[in-house]
Amino acid sequence: MVEVVIIGSMGLDDIETPFGKAEAVLGGSCTYASLAASFFSPCGIVAVVGEDFPQEHIEFLQSKNVDLAGIERKGRTFRWGGSYEFDMNEAKTLRTELNCLAEFDPKLPEEYQDAKYVFLANTDPQIQLSVLEQMKSPALVVMDTMNFWITHKKETLLEVIRKIDVLLLNDGEARQLFGTPNLVAATKQALSLGPRAIIIKKGEHGALLFTKDSHFNCAGYPLEVIKDPTGCGDCFGGGFIGYLASQNELSDRNIRRAIVYGSVIASFNAEDFSIARLKAISHAQIEERFKEFQDHREF
Ligand code: AMP
Repeated sequence: MVEVVIIGSMGLDDIETPFGKAEAVLGGSCTYASLAASFFSPCGIVAVVGEDFPQEHIEFLQSKNVDLAGIERKGRTFRWGGSYEFDMNEAKTLRTELNCLAEFDPKLPEEYQDAKYVFLANTDPQIQLSVLEQMKSPALVVMDTMNFWITHKKETLLEVIRKIDVLLLNDGEARQLFGTPNLVAATKQALSLGPRAIIIKKGEHGALLFTKDSHFNCAGYPLEVIKDPTGCGDCFGGGFIGYLASQNELSDRNIRRAIVYGSVIASFNAEDFSIARLKAISHAQIEERFKEFQDHREF
């Protein structure tokens, strides 16, 4: 049974970091988020790929805890090219070819419509809205976005934010969306739109949770090897919602633990290109790193 529905992009990325290059590798917000969530809960994805999308990637996802009934094939695959400099906290987009994503009209499989947990991962806010309208009565809707959509579809994006529970943004996106350099002021504006929690992702420096009356600060993990941070935000969101769905109780404590689990999966993801590291990690390694996060906060 599908417990978490994840929508987002699925495509092929060309990545360049100071530590190497990868061409036409598996990427997309939905890909990273679903692999991260699948460590904790069964999930189903809603995405579009082109006729040119390699079948091996479909078969790989099928071998995981990921249901693919919501995947459509049409036209050419979404492509993204990005590069990072020594400060790898922010990707520089070199090209975005929306291709099949530009005309995607998502149809939610019937068996997904009753799911209680929904992650609207980074994609066109019009697609996010359409999927949300097809869900019957979700208990928790988490949403992510990026500068591309803030620039091109801000009004639709704000419309989605008014309908969700938890908003994920990185610090640069929060400043851009709310027109202020002050993150506390930005989160106040975001909370006034309706979400009950805002999570600001600060790359290698961790994540901040803001609600109307509480604040939580999750430190970053001191990684010795960072090769490619692509998809870390999506892994964070996928791990966050996957863990919450596995607990099925939205207490403050679980939300804080979910932030740490999201950070654990994101930290592993940065250790190699594309999904190479996600393919290899075990549940035992996830628990071990979770424990390290706990130890780092003890004082
Ligand atoms: P992240 O590093 O977590 O922000 O996400 C990286 C992933 O986002 C890459 O694998 C890209 O394929 C995907 N991506 C890049 N630009 C967009 C966009 N405009 N819409 C949806 N997904 C995108």
